[in-house]
Formats: sequence, C-alpha cells, structure tokens
Amino acid sequence: MNLTLRLTVAAGASLLALGAHAQAFPAGKPINIVVPFSAGGPTDKVARDLAEALRKPLGGVAVVIDNAAGAGSTIGTAKAFRAQPDGYTLLVTHIGMATTPALYRSLPYKVEDFEYLGLINEVPMVVVGKPALAANTWKELTDWIGQNKGKINMANAGLGSASHLCGLMLQNALKTEMTTVPYKGTAPAMTDLMGGQVDFMCDQTTNTTSQVEGKKIKAYAVTTPKRLSIPAVYKDLPTLEEAGMKGFNVSIWHGLYAPKGTPPAVLKTLNDALKVALKDPEFVKKQEGLGAIVVNDARSNPADHKKFVLAEVAKWGPVIKAAGQYAD
Ligand code: ASP
Repeated sequence: MNLTLRLTVAAGASLLALGAHAQAFPAGKPINIVVPFSAGGPTDKVARDLAEALRKPLGGVAVVIDNAAGAGSTIGTAKAFRAQPDGYTLLVTHIGMATTPALYRSLPYKVEDFEYLGLINEVPMVVVGKPALAANTWKELTDWIGQNKGKINMANAGLGSASHLCGLMLQNALKTEMTTVPYKGTAPAMTDLMGGQVDFMCDQTTNTTSQVEGKKIKAYAVTTPKRLSIPAVYKDLPTLEEAGMKGFNVSIWHGLYAPKGTPPAVLKTLNDALKVALKDPEFVKKQEGLGAIVVNDARSNPADHKKFVLAEVAKWGPVIKAAGQYAD
C-alpha cells in the first residue's frame, strides 16, 4: 500500500470510529432528569431513587436531578418539552401530566408531545393534619371542618398537583370551601404543616410516612379504595370511601418521559435501563418502605405507559371540569 492510500484508509477508519462514538448513548455525558416540584418532596424522592438505580444499567453515567418547580408541575414539564431530544434531558412527573390539561386552558405542550418511557410506581395519598389539631380521627376532623367553615386552610403543590386534585375532591365531597395555600411542591408544604402554618393537606405516603411515624403530623384517612397494610403506621386509617365519600379513589403514579423526537435507539437504551432499575432490590425496598408500589414490566413499557396516561386524561378531565376550576 502506498503512503497516500494508507493515510486515506486510516482516516476512513477513524471517521467510522467517530461516527460509532457519536451514536453511542450515553456517551459519558450526565443525564438530567427534570423534576417539576421542589427538592425533598415525593416526586423528587422517586426521581432521586430512580436516578441512582439507573446509573448502573446506563454504564455508570451520572444521572442528576434538575428541580424546575412551579405552577403545579407545568413549568418543569414545559422545560423538558423544550429540551434537546437527545436522551440527556428526561422528565419524571406524576399524575399532573394527566390533570393539568383540564386545569390549564393554554399549556405550551400537549400530553401526546412526549416520548413515553414507562411508569415507575403507584403511590397512595393520605389526609394529614398539623400536630396541634385536636381531631384524632377522620370523624373528629370533619366535625372540626364543619365547625370552622371559612377559617380553614389547606396546602397544596400548586394547581394541577396531586394534592390540589385531592383537595378539590375533598372540598366538593364535604361541600366546604377552604383557603388553599399553593407551594412549589409538598416538601415546603410539609415544613409549614409541621410548623402549624397550614391546617391540613393530602400528600403521597412517600412524603408523609416518616413524619406520621415520628408523630410530627396527624394522619386521618387514605385515598385508595382499600386500606393500607403497609407501612404499618396507616393500617388503622379508614379509606375515604368507607368514610362516606363514594367513589373517592386517588392513587398517584409517576412516569419517565423524554422530549419528542428522541432517537428510537436512545429510547430503547433508556427503557431497557428503566426496566433494570425498577427491579433493583435497593430501589424497590426504599419505595416500598414509603408505601409506593413499583410497577412491573407490563406497565413500564412505552406503549402501555402512553395508553394509561391518555386514559387518566379522559378520567380526570370531567372531574376537574365539573369542579369548575381553571388555573389560568
Ligand atoms: N406531592 C406533590 C403533589 O401534591 C408534588 C411533589 O411535591 O412532589 O402533587
């Protein structure tokens, strides 16, 4: 081989290697997961646990959390929607993906405008109150609500959040309007609840369990159709349905998304990694300890995730519209 030919072959080979490298994902760059609520809250907690569990199946790459909180999850969700569709920006959000389209008349994205990677978990909610409340049971709580109409305030994580949805349903069922106090997530709301600045709220067990166990707040009822057997601290609480609120069933779920247009090969790598992460014993243990149920493979695949979210949009839209509330 003459020198020119040898150089051309060598250059071609390194270009091929470069091409292969450019396509490799993840290529050593950190992956950002946008969380549309404050740090330390339930959505943040699941995203951080997941980020840790994703690291190994993604070849040891750093998976970091970007809290973009506000407006009931819509700010962070819009941020992820606008990100480069290259697999390096993802989104972990909850039921807000399905409730915000009914609450906001103008959103910068459509629910369909994302790549669905899979569901992560389902989490019950609990109605919890400040430690100074005299009420110790659901019945005593509703009596107190009845006696204090117009004076009660309820915290939530912004219009479109799970706590907002639960609060809306409670107010309708109890036929009592309350002053709602919106936060950027239920982590700061929990701080104020423990301090007695707000009276009560609904929140995921992933944020309430250790506070209830430590008697820093009071727990009154669960939002699921069945009572909870774990964590044990909830086992004596009635369901809201048992407490007379027919059909009250709010179970929160979290899912993993990528911006529309992320290449199929990258999506496959991410979905494969998600499936491994959801079986990571450490991840499962942490989630179950807080009352969350990690979903199985049948629910952590893109097609079923999308089908489920669209069904949730159809389910919650009429409930929210009937309550006559808009956020914008
Ligand atoms: N638990 C919150 C909610 O009510 C969200 C959060 O802070 O993760 O939607």
